[in-house]
Amino acid sequence: MIAYNLKIIREKIIQVAEGCGRDPAEIQLIAVSKKFPSSSIEEAARHGQTLFGENYIQEASEKVDELTCDVQLHFIGHLQSNKAKTAARIFHMIETVDNFKLARALNKHAEEIQRNLKILIQVNIGKDPRKSGVLPDDARKLLEDISTLPRLEPCGLMTMPPFVKDPEEARPHFYNLRRLSEELASQGFFKDQPIVELSMGMSSDYHVAIEEGATLIRVGTAIFGQRK
Ligand SMILES: *Cc1c(COP(=O)(O)O)cnc(C)c1O
Repeated sequence: MIAYNLKIIREKIIQVAEGCGRDPAEIQLIAVSKKFPSSSIEEAARHGQTLFGENYIQEASEKVDELTCDVQLHFIGHLQSNKAKTAARIFHMIETVDNFKLARALNKHAEEIQRNLKILIQVNIGKDPRKSGVLPDDARKLLEDISTLPRLEPCGLMTMPPFVKDPEEARPHFYNLRRLSEELASQGFFKDQPIVELSMGMSSDYHVAIEEGATLIRVGTAIFGQRK
């Protein structure tokens, strides 16, 4: 089932990208494996999936210990500063940095192990009081503060738009995140990056996100099935 789902999604990424004049190679699929066992990750890995997303530090570190294959992990959940140490050790990228205290903690723990850590700024693009993320108007200040932290490498933006039934309703939020990233790039941020990453779109709306410029799509249910 996982192999089949991956195949369908890869085909759809190519189809949607080509349909809007984008190079499909710019779009990376993150298989969101939260609440699924490490055996599901290994099954996806056997079918060519290398990039995975996890939401919980404890769960992710247990799975990392069990894994026998090489994978890249992105953290996509809500991160508290007191979990920054483990996060800095096991993740290739932290997608959900939305405050300076967390950024400072990640920088400190990355320094301890002498590594650079890729991050995204999570933006609350729909200004939804129930969602985490920095407000769009505060993203610039946060990036300025983070530019003083030598171990952190901001690569772009991530968002979770407000929950909507019709994927088309998410389109303006995706569009706004891209506009914000372009504005920040024009102000000199992300200038050492080959591309400015935009992590947006999930199982129900990744096609819309690709049309609006996503470079990272985070897909769980459509690969692994319903979570318990
Ligand atoms: C769970 C989760 C996803 C994947 O959602 P699906 O609807 O299962 O594809 C994507 N992004 C974040 C931040 C998540 O927490």
